[in-house]
Amino acid sequence: MNEMTTIDRTQRAYSPAAQAFLARKPALFINNEWVSSSHDKVIEVEDPTSGKIVGHVVDASDRDVDRAVAAARAAFDDGRWSGLPPMVRDRTMNRLADLLEANADLFAELEAIDNGKAKGMAGAVDVPGAISQLRFMAGWASKVAGETTAPYTMPAGAVFSYTLKEPVGVCAQIVPWNFPLLMAALKIAPALAAGCTIVLKPAEQTSITALKLADLVAEAGFPAGVLNVITGNGHTAGDRMVKHPDVDKIAFTGSTEIGKLINRNATETLKHVTLELGGKSPVVVMPDVDVAATAAGVSGAIWFNAGQVCVAGSRLYAHRSVFDQVLEGMAQNAPFWAPRASLDPEAHMGAIISKEQHDKVMGYIEAGKRDGASVALGGDAPSNGGGYFVNPTILVDVNPQMSVVREEIFGPVVVAQRFDDLDEVAREANNTCYGLGAGVWTKDATTMLKLAGKIKAGTVWGNCHAVIDAALPFGGYKESGIGHEQGRLGIEAYLETKTVIIQM
Ligand code: NAP
Repeated sequence: MNEMTTIDRTQRAYSPAAQAFLARKPALFINNEWVSSSHDKVIEVEDPTSGKIVGHVVDASDRDVDRAVAAARAAFDDGRWSGLPPMVRDRTMNRLADLLEANADLFAELEAIDNGKAKGMAGAVDVPGAISQLRFMAGWASKVAGETTAPYTMPAGAVFSYTLKEPVGVCAQIVPWNFPLLMAALKIAPALAAGCTIVLKPAEQTSITALKLADLVAEAGFPAGVLNVITGNGHTAGDRMVKHPDVDKIAFTGSTEIGKLINRNATETLKHVTLELGGKSPVVVMPDVDVAATAAGVSGAIWFNAGQVCVAGSRLYAHRSVFDQVLEGMAQNAPFWAPRASLDPEAHMGAIISKEQHDKVMGYIEAGKRDGASVALGGDAPSNGGGYFVNPTILVDVNPQMSVVREEIFGPVVVAQRFDDLDEVAREANNTCYGLGAGVWTKDATTMLKLAGKIKAGTVWGNCHAVIDAALPFGGYKESGIGHEQGRLGIEAYLETKTVIIQM
């Protein structure tokens, strides 16, 4: 029996604070108050580590959504947020970041319980990531500026012309379940800095940390109605948000399939839309690498967060001369990523979000095998603990026609292929409808720069993977999205540009 099968995956005890939060009566956060839904429908909160139901949240009705949108609309229209001095908006956002920091351990625990991810990872990545999004974007509140521009066709002094940057308005923000708090922060931070008001909907599987965040909103000093949190189903509450005539902008992170649907649905009212969607990111390993370090890096690229990462390095292309060594190195790294209970202090990888997603991942592995792929590592699902675990998996003997190579699996499964030359691997890396991220591993700067230029993806990482930073724009090429988050482009996505021309 190997180490991966002997791990005790029983969920550990929750802290009293986490238990108390999960036991709260389901409610929505509207106008800085916790309010009941107009109906009594709820969604179960499941701990993916145990498969047990540990709480309930509201399944918002159309009336609930309308109420939240009305609150955000009123808060936007009377300028109670956008009209404040930028310094005050900056300070309020930083206060929210301070409160997040003060409650960091509880946020990490709640995320681990609700999502199944390792608490240690949530504490090292999700929570500090959310805090830095708020702090970075808070600074933009005072940096947003239009410009004075001389007209091209008129004599000097004929008109005085300038541009103003104004908040886009009421934003409906819809996020997925893989990094619930971090995704929420990526959405709310630029919107708040720009002076917008918000209705935020977390994914139905992972609403808990968005609700805990709402707990801090009034304490941080945000005026009522600026940030409202609705929990509910995408096809009901989410759909209502997307089609609502009083919403000015949709910011969505999730699957390409739902992103396309949202884009179509938002057309009727011509809302501004930004979409952060799926990926099938290539990772290229050149022959000159330090194999041990690269194997550790490419293991993290696919197995971090159980592969439930939009930029997961799920297509590995290793040069023929190092292919076997890289796979051996990954096998040596696999015990580090062995799935464990999310609250196990030794966990680096936790459970898959749900039974449905778990079965989907296992279904892909089976489909790969049927199509002729071989399992070089893992491919199985440990059943002890009662939760939804999948072992780190490597599939080989694959070809570009297989579903495991073409489609986003969103699990800890990498397809590994050999290549011989740079043009061939660039062509294969781009042989996808997606274009979110890519990794290149080499010591040769010229090769790095050539591949960074050739690969069609919103972000290319060199000798690292999935590094994101609030100052650096993040977005997708092709079917991976429209628009950017983070950096200057991130705040621009929440601004209108008004041109003023005054005859002198
Ligand atoms: P999803 O099924 O597309 O759901 C995302 C969100 O959209 C959820 O809140 C969902 O609500 C909601 N939704 C579903 N149908 C809707 C509709 N008709 N109208 C409005 N909202 C609707 O995605 P997921 O499975 O949660 O997340 C995984 C996907 O997200 C992957 O494809 C991943 O690559 C992508 N992702 C992309 C990025 C990026 O930055 N590019 C980052 C993270 C994840 P329910 O929860 O009720 O379904």
